[in-house]
Amino acid sequence: MLLEIRAAPLWDSTAQKVVGMLTVTDFVNILRHYYYAPEEAPQMGKLEEQQIQTWRDLDGRSGEKSKELLSVSASTSIFDAATILVNHRIHRLPIIEKGEGGATDSVLGVISQIKVLRYIATQFQLRPDVLRRPLRELGIGTFSNLATARMDTPLIRVLDMFVNMRISAVPIVDESGVLLDVYEKFDVSYLARDGAHTNLNMPVSQALAHRIEDLFEGVQTCTMSDTLSSLFDAMRTQSIHRLVVVDENKHLQGIISVSDVLAFILSA
Ligand code: AMP
Repeated sequence: MLLEIRAAPLWDSTAQKVVGMLTVTDFVNILRHYYYAPEEAPQMGKLEEQQIQTWRDLDGRSGEKSKELLSVSASTSIFDAATILVNHRIHRLPIIEKGEGGATDSVLGVISQIKVLRYIATQFQLRPDVLRRPLRELGIGTFSNLATARMDTPLIRVLDMFVNMRISAVPIVDESGVLLDVYEKFDVSYLARDGAHTNLNMPVSQALAHRIEDLFEGVQTCTMSDTLSSLFDAMRTQSIHRLVVVDENKHLQGIISVSDVLAFILSA
């Protein structure tokens, strides 16, 4: 798995079309599948030796994911692409040009939530009074029913949260709720690199040790008194997907993702 690549369109050479997007979410689904159905693992052989088709068949059978491929074309408006991304809680969409008269489809690229946010930030002027308002007044983000874990939480519990709540990161807190780190769905790919993906009972602290720090942007935080403008700047200039909201004592308060900001802009 190439660590810098976050998603790859999946080409079916028989059907001559793109049939899906392969992301770390697929890997998480497969790891959970084997964890909960270990009796299937020996029949399937070693994970590293499996074909992607085996994964897709498994995924479909366990009903963990819809098989419908969501995509846009080059002529789809940014607004429509943003709406699909937000409504379906997905981070990326392939841009596909359908082949006409039996010609094969072509993948023109991939559009992501962060790219849409960057485009909106450079092309549109948001109202200055809105940009200056602090987060506590805007109602952006998630501040209740937060999925969190402790350093000693087994990794499988965090993977369960990713799938069951359809989220891409879980803040790690201490016993008094102070933010210590964030375990991102993308961090699971480091386990594959190190061959550590077979032990999902390991504590989160151990899973975090597999992260390549150079590829990790660090835990980015903000407070309720930060403005929408500063949030916007942090997300678009540093390409970060989320900011964790903390109080002055670093207690976790909430989480604001690019998808929350996009949803706010779309509804404005
Ligand atoms: P994301 O997966 O980061 O795109 O976030 C999708 C939605 O889930 C957004 O509305 C986030 O505010 C929310 N969210 C992200 N992480 C968490 C979490 N750990 N607990 C609860 N909600 C979250």
